[in-house]
Amino acid sequence: MSQFSYKDGVLHAEGASLTAIAEQFGTPTYVYSKAALLSNFAAYADACAGRDALVCYAMKANSNLAILDLLARQGAGFDIVSGGELLRVLAAGGDPGKVIFSGVGKSVDEMRLALSHDILCFNVESIPELHRLNEVAGSMGKKARISLRVNPNVDAKTHPYIATGLKANKFGVAFDDALDTYRTAAKLPHLDVSGIDCHIGSQLLDDAPLLEALDRLIELIDQLGAEGIELHHLDMGGGIGIDYRDADDAAPVPVGTYLGRVFARIDAWRAERHNGKPIKVIFEPGRSIVGDTGVLLTKVEFLKHGEEKNFCIVDAAMNDMARPALYQAWMDMQPVVQGSAAAAEFDVVGPICESGDWLARDRSLAVAAGDLLVMHTAGAYGMTMASNYNTRGRAAEVIVDGDTVHLVRQREKPEDLYALESVIK
Ligand SMILES: *Cc1c(COP(=O)(O)O)cnc(C)c1O
Repeated sequence: MSQFSYKDGVLHAEGASLTAIAEQFGTPTYVYSKAALLSNFAAYADACAGRDALVCYAMKANSNLAILDLLARQGAGFDIVSGGELLRVLAAGGDPGKVIFSGVGKSVDEMRLALSHDILCFNVESIPELHRLNEVAGSMGKKARISLRVNPNVDAKTHPYIATGLKANKFGVAFDDALDTYRTAAKLPHLDVSGIDCHIGSQLLDDAPLLEALDRLIELIDQLGAEGIELHHLDMGGGIGIDYRDADDAAPVPVGTYLGRVFARIDAWRAERHNGKPIKVIFEPGRSIVGDTGVLLTKVEFLKHGEEKNFCIVDAAMNDMARPALYQAWMDMQPVVQGSAAAAEFDVVGPICESGDWLARDRSLAVAAGDLLVMHTAGAYGMTMASNYNTRGRAAEVIVDGDTVHLVRQREKPEDLYALESVIK
């Protein structure tokens, strides 16, 4: 159930009117629903109930401390991609023992930081990274738990939307090299070979490629077991898509359905080929936890009627929400107050000096200057990708809980933006 709905013609987040939020906090502002967040996490947690499983929220999707805190209190672990993200987990009171560290370019300092906090696992993506981690762990008198990110190379012909699981990208270890890489890892004295992982792409609507990837990982676990390399966990990565309400989109597979299929396959394999031995299952969802929990609230500055197009110029821009400019992403736009003007066709654009600064194209909108609009499904890869381009302070963020609105990030002031700079003497 969406937590964003119209009441008496005014869009609300849970029990709070977006008009009132704009008055109190200004625009542009990210508005998140606590109930939506908890219900998205519960879809994973419920499907994992009673099993040896861990949901590690991929916090690059949205790393606000209040979001991390709410999820940590539900038992979430975290998938991090930088030392900075680990410090955020700690600042939010998250458990480093439930942190896994992904990414192709971990620095020595980041490895040291993560080892000093005894994180659950490093998801290693290359042989040089294995050697670096082995050295860093050795210098600290520690052993690093590792998993190899295997690139299962699932068939792109049948699933053309997969972006990261193919041979031609920078992520992971090639499937054909995986056995050798595990043999290398098993010989390094300061590594503890613990698991296997993959992450084949994002915004996947169909779970078929994920299940295909699972079969390939299981194949490797069997082969490794035959050589005496026993793995203790299997990490499916993230990637489950959400409904951006594009008319062309099929609906994404429900989280519970997908997890049910994963567990069914794993149970069958354990019984038939793994001698019933246990294996922990990890998921790294990002978008499907936070994507539909937030909107970007913005105000119309001007309507401009061009020769070929009408422009709706708003106070949010590509620096606040980069997805349209970056991926030509389609995101739904709606006026906060219904029926205040006649509908016309607009491109919704920001004030930034780039033609790429658009948020939505060819939309029928009933808006007038001064009206409020929301960009829906903006909770994932919105604020975390925001920049200060054009010396624009990043938006405020609020979380709505019932009819209470909590400010969880202040709007940046211009002086914040140049506070770290100085002129040469
Ligand atoms: C980005 C990322 C995720 C999360 O992906 P979603 O599509 O947001 O679920 C999970 N794991 C890794 C390694 C990632 O890079």
